[in-house]
Amino acid sequence: MRILTVVGNRPQFVKAAAVSGLLRAEHEEILIHTGQHYDDSLSQVFFAELGLARPERELGIGGGSNTSQTARMLAALEPLIEELDPDGALVYGDTNSTLAGGLAAAQAGVPVIHVEAGMRSHEPSMPEELNRVLTDHLSALLLCSSESSAENLRAESVSGRVQVVGDVMVDVALALQPAARSRPEVPAAYGVESGRYLLLTAHRAGNVDDAHRLRALVELIRSLPLPVLVPLHPRTRARLHAAGLLERLQRSEGVRLTEPLGYLEFSALLCQARAVLTDSGGVQKEAYLAGVPCLTLRANTEWVETVSSGWNTLIDLDPLAAQAALAHEPPAHRPELYGDGHAAQRCVAAIGAM
Ligand code: UDP
Repeated sequence: MRILTVVGNRPQFVKAAAVSGLLRAEHEEILIHTGQHYDDSLSQVFFAELGLARPERELGIGGGSNTSQTARMLAALEPLIEELDPDGALVYGDTNSTLAGGLAAAQAGVPVIHVEAGMRSHEPSMPEELNRVLTDHLSALLLCSSESSAENLRAESVSGRVQVVGDVMVDVALALQPAARSRPEVPAAYGVESGRYLLLTAHRAGNVDDAHRLRALVELIRSLPLPVLVPLHPRTRARLHAAGLLERLQRSEGVRLTEPLGYLEFSALLCQARAVLTDSGGVQKEAYLAGVPCLTLRANTEWVETVSSGWNTLIDLDPLAAQAALAHEPPAHRPELYGDGHAAQRCVAAIGAM
């Protein structure tokens, strides 16, 4: 089979790294990079570190509003799909690249395969929620990370075939976290000691595009009781700069801002942190797998099992909730929630059986 894979941003490079090699062993894959994330720290480093094949085509479409970006991707993908005539189109997650890849393929009559299908925050104002709901409803094969996401799809009566395969990001994390744990030199290079610092990431529109919430985020970071490392997403850096808050954060004692990090360095910092604070879906999962408590900077999450198991606390941007969560001992048990590290194999088998 000829499979056209459309990726465009950081978490999608991680997910594609799990699947692409296995897919190529049995089928022809053509990888298209939309350019949604284009700078080296969010893109190139992931191809280099995770062994993802170079994209066959690069569309160079970044920037602009969600609507204009999606529209430009659709316009670029339509002739490509016609030229390449694939048997299926593979998309990951919930970004503009996911929706554009899915919609352009479905309009051309090409079956869409959605990996990480069925995740729901039930918050329709979230751009990611729109992308994932729409993509699920145009997909022919919906590959789910967990039983709860499959249930979401059944409740919405999607027309495609639903299958729980586990989570492909888990494949990558389980393979690389053991080495990440035994690298104390990585936190040391940032002036912090293994187990005695916090790692924080934030980039969701709901946290950084709203000036009031951005200020609350800054005050939350300043209130934390341990040194905190913050690899700053370019979007967050730009919003902090525009709001005049970047310097306030830079000058805060115990706060260390860095550029976005490569997967291996970030993973070493995550595995050795006392706790992780994040609004990222991928990072919530990775913290769980690493056995590191997570404080989620949102009022809801798609990764509901991490919360019900007691390893993830939804603190939104509340400093008191952060302190309470940090004072809490993590649970004694950590059940396997999102598969056994072989989700990609099941994805490829499901694609082959289409
Ligand atoms: N990540 C990374 N470097 C960083 C921050 C995150 O390598 O400085 C990785 C992280 O380990 C995870 C992925 O990027 O695999 C998550 O991406 P992001 O938070 O952008 O997206 P989301 O998961 O929220 O869709």
